[in-house]
Amino acid sequence: MADPARTEPHAPLVWANVLMFTLTLAAAAILVPWYGVHHGFTVADWAVFVVFLGANGMAVTAGYHRLWAHRTYEAHWSVRLLYLVFGTMALQNSAFEWCAGHRTHHLHVDDVDRDPYSARRGFWFSHIGWMLRAYPSGRNDFANIPDLKKDRMLAFQHRYYVPLAIAANVGLPVAAGLVFGDVWGMLILAGVLRLVWSHHVTFFINSLAHMWGSRPYTEDNSARDNPLIAVVTYGEGYHNFHHIFAHDYRNGVRWWQWDPTKWLIAGLERVGLARRLKRTPVFQIRRALLAMQFTRAEAQLARLPGVPSQVEHLRARLAHEYESFLAAVADWARLKEQWLEEKKRAVLEQWEHVDPQKKLRDIERALGAQLRRMRVLRAQLAY
Ligand SMILES: [Zn+2]
Ligand SMILES: [Zn+2]
Repeated sequence: MADPARTEPHAPLVWANVLMFTLTLAAAAILVPWYGVHHGFTVADWAVFVVFLGANGMAVTAGYHRLWAHRTYEAHWSVRLLYLVFGTMALQNSAFEWCAGHRTHHLHVDDVDRDPYSARRGFWFSHIGWMLRAYPSGRNDFANIPDLKKDRMLAFQHRYYVPLAIAANVGLPVAAGLVFGDVWGMLILAGVLRLVWSHHVTFFINSLAHMWGSRPYTEDNSARDNPLIAVVTYGEGYHNFHHIFAHDYRNGVRWWQWDPTKWLIAGLERVGLARRLKRTPVFQIRRALLAMQFTRAEAQLARLPGVPSQVEHLRARLAHEYESFLAAVADWARLKEQWLEEKKRAVLEQWEHVDPQKKLRDIERALGAQLRRMRVLRAQLAY
């Protein structure tokens, strides 16, 4: 089939974006060392740079991404207002444009014609190229954001985006400069360098996080888990998990995985500023992990040269593990269905004896133990 997006290398340039990206990058590359050598930056310049950078990043990850694009929780209006102010400052377009494009990215991930920043079109395209030209794949008609269009705060931001973006990017650094007595230093660090840095680390999520890292949950798309990318992207580097469980407010789902965005959201819940945080059931997470383990073990087994009797032994073990996995999945589905049925009929007394929640937890635990066994088995298959 014809591929209009790919066969149109000369889609018209979006000059506003070309100029914005090149001029800010050039300004950062020239002005930061020049001002640093001739005048020097104050501690306040650096401190405000860090604060604005973090605020911009978190407004995009916790606000634009996890709140508005995926609706993984609900937030108080004061929090949404802050997300909007600093999200506007991050200069990644209005929340309408951002979320419409991002929902399309999830729906058509990797599709070269329909994913607005498909990683299959290369690093440059998925990082920044998709914004430099008016590609057909980047067109948004907002049909996929009916919920957001009802939000008056977001509609206001979309309508007055350009003046608001200029006001935030010039006004906030100048205000900080007046307070701390170094307007130019603040404009260069907390204005220009902060913007360039903030842009490119966010763009890594579309480029690097679809190319570099592991795929523990699914190989159905190119998204990767990469703890290094998570460090610079406020937790968004656990992108393989995110693409399979996009409704979860966490990207780094394990407690030890670096995801400041999930900590911010959980913290907001604690103080009553966020609620209805969506969490993927442990069973679903382990089922996905195990399914991947089996796929990989099968592939390893097929490649194994080894002694036939040993291979047969490993094959039998794998088959046995797989059978018990399927049985656990079936048990879970049956229990869950029964539980929902009973709940509907409001005869929960009976369940108090059987305690389905406990049984469901037992299955989760069994899957956890199986995961550990599969890791051992796969290590043996690797020899
Ligand atoms: Zn993605
Ligand atoms: Zn997403």
